[in-house]
Amino acid sequence: MSARQDNRRATASEGNPSSESALGLRSIGAKLTLAICLAIALGFGGVVFFYAKQQEKNILLQNERSIQQVLNSVNEGLQTVMITGSADVAELYADRLKGVKDIDDFRILRTNGLEAFRDNETIRKVNEYRQEADFELRPAETQVRVFAADNANLQQAIRTQQFVYYYDTQHDDDHLTFLLPIKSTKKCHRCHGKDREVLGVLELRSSLASVRQEVRQTWSQSLMVLAIALVAVLLVATAVLRRYIIRPIEIVSTAMAKVASGDLDQNIPVMGRDELSLMATSFNKMTAELRERYAGFNSEHNKLETILMGTDEGIVVTDGSGAVALVNPAATKLLDKPAETIIQEGFLRLLDDPQRMERSLENSGNGGATDVFLYRQRFLTINASTLRAADGRMLGHAAIIRDMTKEKRLEQMLRELSNTDALTGLANRRALDDTLAREFGLAREQGRDLALLMFDIDHFKKFNDTYGHDQGDRVLKAFAATVRSYVRDVLDTVCRYGGEEFMVIARETSQEGGIILAERIREGVEAMVVDGLRVTTSIGVAGIRETGAATGGELIERADSALYEAKRGGRNRVVAATTGDAA
Ligand code: GH3
Ligand code: MG
Ligand code: MG
Repeated sequence: MSARQDNRRATASEGNPSSESALGLRSIGAKLTLAICLAIALGFGGVVFFYAKQQEKNILLQNERSIQQVLNSVNEGLQTVMITGSADVAELYADRLKGVKDIDDFRILRTNGLEAFRDNETIRKVNEYRQEADFELRPAETQVRVFAADNANLQQAIRTQQFVYYYDTQHDDDHLTFLLPIKSTKKCHRCHGKDREVLGVLELRSSLASVRQEVRQTWSQSLMVLAIALVAVLLVATAVLRRYIIRPIEIVSTAMAKVASGDLDQNIPVMGRDELSLMATSFNKMTAELRERYAGFNSEHNKLETILMGTDEGIVVTDGSGAVALVNPAATKLLDKPAETIIQEGFLRLLDDPQRMERSLENSGNGGATDVFLYRQRFLTINASTLRAADGRMLGHAAIIRDMTKEKRLEQMLRELSNTDALTGLANRRALDDTLAREFGLAREQGRDLALLMFDIDHFKKFNDTYGHDQGDRVLKAFAATVRSYVRDVLDTVCRYGGEEFMVIARETSQEGGIILAERIREGVEAMVVDGLRVTTSIGVAGIRETGAATGGELIERADSALYEAKRGGRNRVVAATTGDAA
């Protein structure tokens, strides 16, 4: 095929998804991995954050409980010291406690916020209560105010008789402070009386440094565990995703891209029974179907191509843009030009006559008419048509070209035969009728003369009877030749009207001229010898202007009448028609 376009491959260079997968986030696999990793990281992070927070809370709570226990023990110890009447030891006791790790400060306070055991106020009051000077006064007194008397925490501990604690995180070195009320017991009443339920408050300030350190450690451990777990889970998740989702999707999309570029030999391995496997199965079915259809299409195409290439009919097809897309060998032969020239010149110049070709195409829209062109001494028929899709869209034009030269010649021959008399080779009566009608019309139209000569051989029946029919035929042939030899080739028409009757249509000849011609012919016939035998003829002559005949038929009647007169007048003579000769 000289100019065949293969549209199936036209889309091969469009879009290649497999190349895009290398661009990271453009691929569905990368997006999916990112989303799942984000979700896992967020989930794990949340769990670890919650766990670490809870741990932090527990550590602080544990610390509070420990301090509380310490404080209770201290309280018991202090009470014991007091009961044994060794109140002066309390001060030392308090000072020694400050040396314990994480205990920053320990003080025994009065309910008014002043530190106890620093002045002689209590000693005086106790001595006064007991009405004896049991306890010695301190030689040096100091007043140390630890809290304002109305300090809210202090007042709360006293009022509720329950310990109070609070965190002091304003400074770099943050603290936890406990306030434990010292309740008055029966044993206390001996020295302090029954009036007061709370005798004082123990204040213990503990550093949070080691607790904070522990919290930090918990956090760093949690974060480490989080990181390790996250890496492990992400690795596993990515591997699973890749194995069961991303890879299969990649395989399917790569196979699809190959199918799109025309490679139908794609088969995807089906693993498992999930949606992707279902997709792979459907894809395989689809490509198998496509292959089958394509093979069918190909075989049809091959058949068509064989027909197109082998047919004697020339076929030229254009695409939607009007460019010649197909030229078969018969077309190049019929049009007598190479396919390249046909493609270059275009569809309308197939027969070197664009206007006619255009008309032919227009006509094809109204039922596909076949047009006959005389092209380089040959008769070609062209059936030009517009090819349309089901929705009416123009797909192109097609021309089927046939060589009709032989048929035309045959037709011409048949036509000639049907207009020719077999015996004499002259025009027959049908041809005469046509010629006379035409010439009569033309002569009338142009005001020119026309004469009709009508011949009838004399006593021919008798001639036949005497010499035989074959001899008669030979005479008829010779007669025809003689008449022909007297007329002008182009201007006159001789015909055998029937039997032994002949006519001559003499153009641009008046009746008088016709008579002269008729007379010459009559003499020629008279002189004619066939096989030693002779015949004569009678002739009637009618001119259109002289007779005023209105039609060819009428002119024949006038000539016939004149002929009749010639017969009646004794035969072997010429008689001219007159106006009154009409039958
Ligand atoms: P007339 O002078 O009055 O014309 O006498 P005729 O005998 O010629 O009379 P008519 O014209 O009526 O006769 C025609 C004869 O011509 C009859 C027939 O024998 C003969 N004839 C007609 N056609 C042919 C033909 O094709 N071949 C031969 N051999 N004879 C024919
Ligand atoms: Mg006759
Ligand atoms: Mg006759």
